[in-house]
Amino acid sequence: MAGDIFLKNYMEDLVWELMDQVLDQDPQACRCRNCRYDMAALALNQLPPRYVVREKGAVYSKVALLETQPRADIYRALTSALMTVKKAPRHEPV
Ligand SMILES: [Zn+2]
Repeated sequence: MAGDIFLKNYMEDLVWELMDQVLDQDPQACRCRNCRYDMAALALNQLPPRYVVREKGAVYSKVALLETQPRADIYRALTSALMTVKKAPRHEPV
C-alpha cells in the first residue's frame, strides 16, 4: 500500500525559490510576509499550473524540475508581481 498521495502545483515551489532573487534586484522592495504572499499569488495567476501527484514523505529532486521549467517566465511573472505589489502594498509604505 502506498503512502498518502496528494496533488501539488510545483510551480508554487519554483515561485518561492526565485522570490529572493527577484527581491534582490530591487533594494526598495518590501520583503514582509504580506508582500511576499501577494507577489506569489500574482505571479502564480500568470503562470500555468504544473500539477503532479506526490507522496507524503517522498523526496523529489528540485534540479530535475527546474530544468523542465522556463525560469525566465517565472522570473518575469515575479518581477511584474513585484511592481504591482510595490504600487499598492497592503500596508502603509515603509
Ligand atoms: Zn510589505
